[in-house]
Amino acid sequence: MDFIKLAMNTEVFAQRHIGISEKDLHHMFKTIGVENMEQLISETIPDDIRLKEPLKLPEGISEHGFLSHIQQLSQKNKVFKTYIGLGYHESLTPSVIKRNILENPGWYTAYTPYQAEIAQGRLEALLNFQTMVCDLTGMALANASLLDESTAAAEAMTMLFDVRSRQQKKDGALKFFVSEEVMPQTLSLLQTRSTPLGIELVIGNHEEFDFSEGFYGALLQYPGKHGQVHDYADFVQKAKVNDITVAVAADILSLVLLTPPGEWGVDVVVGTTQRFGIPLGYGGPHAAFFATKEAYKRSIPGRIIGVTRDTDGNRALRMALQTREQHIKRDKATSNICTAQVLLAVMAGMYGVYHGPDGLKFIANKVHDTSKLLSKELKKLGLEQTNTAFFDTIKVKVPDSRKLKAIAEKNNINLNYIDAETVSVSLNEAVSQNDLELLISCFSEFQNTEQKNSSADNTDVIPSSLQRKAPFLEHEVFNSYHSETELMRYIKKLERKDLALNHSMISLGSCTMKLNAASEMLPLSWANWGNIHPFVPLDQAEGYQSVLNELEKQLNVITGFAATSLQPNSGAQGEYAGLMTIRAYHKSRGEEHRNICIIPASAHGTNPASAVMAGMKVVVTKTDEKGNIDVADLKEKVQLHSENLAALMVTYPSTHGVFESSIVHITDLIHKNGGQVYMDGANMNAQVGLTNPAVIGADVCHLNLHKTFAIPHGGGGPGVGPICVAEQLKPFLPTNPVIETGGEKAITAISAAPWGSALACLISYGYIKMLGTKGLTASTEIAILNANYIKEKLKGKFDVLYAGEKGRAAHEMIIDCRPFKVNGVEVTDIAKRLMDYGFHAPTVSFPVAGTMMIEPTESESLSELDRFCNAMIAIREEIDEVSTEDHNNVLKNAPHTLEMVTSDNWDYPYSRQKAAFPLAYVHENKFWPSIRRTDEAFGDRNLICTCAPIEAYAEA
Ligand SMILES: *Cc1c(COP(=O)(O)O)cnc(C)c1O
Repeated sequence: MDFIKLAMNTEVFAQRHIGISEKDLHHMFKTIGVENMEQLISETIPDDIRLKEPLKLPEGISEHGFLSHIQQLSQKNKVFKTYIGLGYHESLTPSVIKRNILENPGWYTAYTPYQAEIAQGRLEALLNFQTMVCDLTGMALANASLLDESTAAAEAMTMLFDVRSRQQKKDGALKFFVSEEVMPQTLSLLQTRSTPLGIELVIGNHEEFDFSEGFYGALLQYPGKHGQVHDYADFVQKAKVNDITVAVAADILSLVLLTPPGEWGVDVVVGTTQRFGIPLGYGGPHAAFFATKEAYKRSIPGRIIGVTRDTDGNRALRMALQTREQHIKRDKATSNICTAQVLLAVMAGMYGVYHGPDGLKFIANKVHDTSKLLSKELKKLGLEQTNTAFFDTIKVKVPDSRKLKAIAEKNNINLNYIDAETVSVSLNEAVSQNDLELLISCFSEFQNTEQKNSSADNTDVIPSSLQRKAPFLEHEVFNSYHSETELMRYIKKLERKDLALNHSMISLGSCTMKLNAASEMLPLSWANWGNIHPFVPLDQAEGYQSVLNELEKQLNVITGFAATSLQPNSGAQGEYAGLMTIRAYHKSRGEEHRNICIIPASAHGTNPASAVMAGMKVVVTKTDEKGNIDVADLKEKVQLHSENLAALMVTYPSTHGVFESSIVHITDLIHKNGGQVYMDGANMNAQVGLTNPAVIGADVCHLNLHKTFAIPHGGGGPGVGPICVAEQLKPFLPTNPVIETGGEKAITAISAAPWGSALACLISYGYIKMLGTKGLTASTEIAILNANYIKEKLKGKFDVLYAGEKGRAAHEMIIDCRPFKVNGVEVTDIAKRLMDYGFHAPTVSFPVAGTMMIEPTESESLSELDRFCNAMIAIREEIDEVSTEDHNNVLKNAPHTLEMVTSDNWDYPYSRQKAAFPLAYVHENKFWPSIRRTDEAFGDRNLICTCAPIEAYAEA
């Protein structure tokens, strides 16, 4: 607490990160009835799991100190011209998008758009993304992003597998054909994902594939990993005849010029949109896409944005089939996708909006023409180019690729060195005339011959059957905003519809919507961080290596564990990775049969979904009436399954917001029965500096860096979900097929890139570096204080469902809204009414239906906490005024739009003032929901996921 006792010290970042100051403390302690912080913490966290010593991390540094440190580190990254390709290409982020989205808290601090009425802006941006993907791939439906191309391909493999088994085709078709043209990182990921599910991968040449029995699906790469553009029409035709489904991983920019796979009748098209204006960032974050046929609409992984109508019949957007997504189907799941890549999908979609169809054609043609020119020049130099049809990548035979490598590196150029005698070169929109000349000169130095100039080659290297004929991006949105002024205003128009952290507190329980400090974010815009390809040699990424190694160490210290893998790019991926290391550990000890995963009923839906994906059987254990794990029930289940027990997955403090005192006893019980303990670290914000997963007896946990460690939510992504493990699991940490990472007995890839979303890791690194031991610990303490303060303030108005033994909440609490059913009020009504007060609702109906889970975080000020409590109390009074008799009331009609309250007709039994300005503070900072309540059922019945004109879906 030292920093809080200090007078203002502008060098102490914690004073900026934490919203509570010393003068607030006395009042807050008094309100909750404690003498001091130590008393509160000791009443909250069981004594036996408290850390005895402060974290062994350095003291925090100032913001300017961090910025100069990270600037110096960035100089250690060498930005070469990189033509490696393999799914990653240098791209040009339009400055208008960088400044107004990537660098704009109005976009990057928004939450996942569950509350559609205050999220129409990003919902529209995502609908644009989906439309763009559908147009370019030639498919009917697309989701609003997945984590990367390789995980998207794995999702395709499993979705098609699931569809097959649900069609009751018990024909034992367990084989999945994978073309040898598929990217190495994708192949590795498919290996990881297929094994636990019993899918058998068969890798081979698609031209030699015999479509024999036993195959249910296939994956092709278009263009192939080294650039050859294959015509797959025949393959797809034959596959269909043989009842084999086909997925294609496609390069999004190439689809501007190439026949879209949808025209061949494929089932799924996946890929990355990185090259649509997203920085390379040493591997991520980037938005992958997943497009499919109408027939699979209920099986698509991830989130889909759909069109519906609001109460007044106006067009409205929202996440479609949301109940499905919220529950993530638990142990019936085939996918565990929760956090995706929303911010990056928004940016990629805007890239499409800004450039439009003609701009994209210009870019694709430029890239294509440059590669043709390069191919021609290399032929002149006497080199053989072996791709007969290509878009942006040529494959060249060289007598000695190591010699070429030396020349290229001397000129700050990276190529893809396939073997001793072959290289591939992938071009991109950022290649200038000079770049091309330098590139050619490397080859001519290598060949020892003079280069001769020549102009662009107009001969076709794409056969006419593979030339795209179908138009794309014909919708108005892609043909309206091509000047910077127009796009800037369009982005602003959308931003204004969305409530983000730059307006008010978003007290999302379990999601920890804390400050995403500007100093943490600034470096993300710098070229020395942005423009590094994930597969460059390590000596070109020393700045990154330094940050990533240090971040791993920081997280080891914070969790008390031995090692960390930063590869998983969401919390759910972390869960999966952690369980896969447990699986590998059991196997290494000859205990492969251990496959039972015990999970409490209150767990997040991703937990059972991840367990199923890891090939485990889920056994659900009960929670008692206090919200704790029912130890008697757990014991029974452990004993019953002792022989086959693989793991317990436990969230700590529990999703009920309580530090269970029996935790050590529980983890002990699991170990004694041969199991490992997986801790879901989503609630780490209640632990940092005070206790840790190692102390409670866990063996592995994931951390949500996009929750506890300040990476912004981005409207639903990106995320980073590292796993931290105890010594015995360390050997199994995941690797990457191109750049080796992980342990000595590493499992295959969890994400496409070696260090997952490396660029976003800079944020958490900065967060820990600037807060230091004291700041981190104080953040946890204040997070707990703020939650308990709200709990006291709401006392008597709302029942708090669970509390620890001494009556304290952890960093979040659940309030019960079910009693208001007697007044005809549902929890949703309260959520929507909060919008009129300028607040985003807390978590609704998780983990208990009919409740709200409130998590204020340490970053909010006392006055903001009070405003929120006053809004809740005012709503509580409104609840008392209404009854089941009459639904025409201020709660049921919420939210109230500007259009509604300024309309000439006002037929409601309460005033306009009460509708829109229910408390004095609202006058000063009014947020207008842009639509009225959305009609979920209508939208789900009439699923529309692209920008179709309104008439197209008006109910007949
Ligand atoms: C957020 C969360 C997850 C999933 O994390 P994602 O990054 O969204 O995949 C898992 N468990 C809990 C308790 C969470 O709050």
